[in-house]
Amino acid sequence: MGAMQIDPVALTQQLVRLDTRNPPGHELDCIVLVADLLAGHGFDTAIQEFGPKRANLVARIKPRSGSVKPIMFTGHVDTVPFGHADWSYDPLGAEIVEGRLYGRGSSDMKAGVAAIVAAAIAEIEFLRETSGVTIVITGGEETGCEGASALVADRMLGETGLLVVAEPTANEMLAGHKGALWMKACCHGRAAHGAMPHLGDNAIYRIADAALKLKAFEFNETRHPVMGQATLNVGTVGGGANINSVPDYAELTIDVRTLPGMRHDKVLDQLAFTLGVDCELAPLVDLAAVWTDPVRPEMRRFQHSHFAATGFAADIKTANYFTDASILTPALGNIDTVICGPGEPSMAHKTDEYCEVARIAEACQIYRMAIKSYSEQL
Ligand SMILES: [Zn+2]
Repeated sequence: MGAMQIDPVALTQQLVRLDTRNPPGHELDCIVLVADLLAGHGFDTAIQEFGPKRANLVARIKPRSGSVKPIMFTGHVDTVPFGHADWSYDPLGAEIVEGRLYGRGSSDMKAGVAAIVAAAIAEIEFLRETSGVTIVITGGEETGCEGASALVADRMLGETGLLVVAEPTANEMLAGHKGALWMKACCHGRAAHGAMPHLGDNAIYRIADAALKLKAFEFNETRHPVMGQATLNVGTVGGGANINSVPDYAELTIDVRTLPGMRHDKVLDQLAFTLGVDCELAPLVDLAAVWTDPVRPEMRRFQHSHFAATGFAADIKTANYFTDASILTPALGNIDTVICGPGEPSMAHKTDEYCEVARIAEACQIYRMAIKSYSEQL
């Protein structure tokens, strides 16, 4: 029996046509489609449900010997909502026009998932004889990596020597990304009639003070050579019931992007100190930064296979978004992690999201080369 080939472009279209907007998620149909396809080619598959119609998949080919750790690929199948603007193409249509595959999740990141699946199926006989492979397909990534967290909690990952995250990079090789610490700050006051403000205590004034303190806040962290500085942004503010009352409650949300090595509990302490006791601060999303030194052997090996498949030597860069690696990489013992996938990073979350069709086959080729070079160490 020769190597099986499946068409990653057609698979991307199938995946895009399944509605996995998150919220509410509902990844189960998508996960079952991928699981059935892989099981049909001989993979061991395990579906984990982490909510109503919410699901993850772990699919494996075991390594030839027990002392070898399989290479691991990961991607998510949930997408962000369509947004409020009108689309020129059906966001669930997966229409291909002039070399671009249009649809929500085409770039972020159903094309990446399809490329992983096609590469692993094409190399299945080789993988059986060598390192084996673990394919981790998650739900719930877009709202803070809930799917990946559920897999870690149930210890479903096993071990690996290299994690490849197929998030959209236009097939560039990235060495990590900042961490994300999202928080809510809230202030309480005392309500009164708007005509008698001296009888109340205005929570909006308090939250406005908090916003200005946050504007002036500076991280005293050393610049990261590739990622630069940690950042802070106040994203939303809310409070007050009506125009003629003194508000007794107001809140804002804060998005901090951290560098590798920054401890999120320390950041939380620093911000709580800055805001003072009148402001309550609570974390909403807490995802670690990811960074692998590009000179490490696994990164070099991936770089060589990347060059062999694409013909261009990449500068080392990092992503502007977070990925499931924030959860998976530490759970796997801070394993070497590379981010490389066919989607257009500039198209993620946008109206008329598309993926360049040619990049999907190219990603598949990069992954096949990576599988081969990963096994050279054995
Ligand atoms: Zn994504």
